[in-house]
Amino acid sequence: MTARILVVDDIEANVRLLEAKLTAEYYDVLTAYNGPEALARAAAEEPDIILLDVMMPGMDGFQVCRRLKNDPATRHIPVVLVTALDGRDDRIQGLEAGADEFLTKPIDEVMLLARVRSLTRLKAVMDELRQREASGRRMGVIENSASRLGGGGGRVTVIDDHERQGPRLLEQLSVEHRAQLATSAEAAADLPRGHVDLFIINAMAKSFDGLRLAARIRADEATRHVPILAVVDVEDRARVVKALEIGVNDLLSRPVDSQELAARARTQIRRKRYTDYLRNNLDQSLELAIIDQLTGLYNRRYMSSQVDVLIARARRSRNPLAALVVDIDHFKKINDNFGHDVGDEVLREFAVRLASNVRAVDLACRTGGEEFVVLMPETQIVDAHRIAERLRLHVAGSPFRVSGGRQLLTVTISIGVSATTAEDVAAGSLLKRADENVYAAKARGRNRVIAQAA
Ligand code: GH3
Ligand code: MG
Ligand code: MG
Repeated sequence: MTARILVVDDIEANVRLLEAKLTAEYYDVLTAYNGPEALARAAAEEPDIILLDVMMPGMDGFQVCRRLKNDPATRHIPVVLVTALDGRDDRIQGLEAGADEFLTKPIDEVMLLARVRSLTRLKAVMDELRQREASGRRMGVIENSASRLGGGGGRVTVIDDHERQGPRLLEQLSVEHRAQLATSAEAAADLPRGHVDLFIINAMAKSFDGLRLAARIRADEATRHVPILAVVDVEDRARVVKALEIGVNDLLSRPVDSQELAARARTQIRRKRYTDYLRNNLDQSLELAIIDQLTGLYNRRYMSSQVDVLIARARRSRNPLAALVVDIDHFKKINDNFGHDVGDEVLREFAVRLASNVRAVDLACRTGGEEFVVLMPETQIVDAHRIAERLRLHVAGSPFRVSGGRQLLTVTISIGVSATTAEDVAAGSLLKRADENVYAAKARGRNRVIAQAA
């Protein structure tokens, strides 16, 4: 997986060094030498990751980071702040500015590539989720922003057999999280693992294979999305590379610095909450946004959002898009005579008959009370007419069973059919013509289909 990385540093030699390292790993590198230039390039070229030097004359890295994170157009791009070696204060300030990661100068190549790799993977997932969120937003559904989710108070499981390091990690994490410690792989399996927000695994453990454990956590359905921090010895390059291949999200190098631990744990937990939020909310709200709750067919809003897409496709493929507008005859009488609930039953039963009489690629929607639309890609008007006639007979030909099967009702429908032609591919006129045809069908006595080209 490759990525475009913007490297920002006021010292040309630093930029060139990073550029050379990253290019050698097949990343695309963009460069900027000051804050304003970095902001301009970030906005114009939407890099996947930004490596940002803190110490720059004029606008420093914190200011740049804050601006990037305040701008909705660049907020989602992960920022790695490059700080001085003992930059503890820098880190705190960086976290407040919204930085996603930290690297210290001089930059260790293995740690650099670890961060870039994990951020690249993360960015791909985020892009996918954001894309779905964007279409949800367009439909006015998700107004809530998940970006305020914090990284504190997480459930963290430490798996470490080192007699001093394990308890120390536990103690440090307990300052802001609910942490538990397992000193063996077996003990880890016994811990409640349902709602873990983060695993921290000692990849150098003596009594168990930490990387094998990490791989198992990755493969398990229940823990697949839980981030893993691996404690490694940076000198042990083979193991570091293996850890990244397995899908460990980030590395902590031994001896673990408490500030570093706090920052990385918080970052991983915040990210997990963000992606969890998007996953959960999207599944639910997308469903609400596009499905009619009474019948399970698509709703009007979704139909409206899709009709332009289908029209554009029809124009490209030079195959017509056909539309049926279907209206139940004298539906008001059904309500008046048998009650609203029976009316609802009729609508549901009709939706089943409608959906089972069209192809899977056709879009069947309930657009209003007792009015339905079917959009049929790549369908000539004669074929649409035939399908409409089949549907009409299928409805009129066998009565609807309602009130728990105690009552039989004969229901009829009127259908107007239209299709795009080479001259006329406008969405508005497609549905308008089908609508006019429905009215014509009503006027001519109902229970009939009227189809005509433009
Ligand atoms: P026509 O043959 O001319 O189409 O006559 P109609 O009675 O079917 O048409 P009209 O538009 O006059 O009445 C539609 C009725 O559908 C009126 C409304 O109360 C009812 N209706 C709308 N939505 C629902 C619903 O969700 N459930 C039920 N049971 N009735 C609904
Ligand atoms: Mg009607
Ligand atoms: Mg009506």
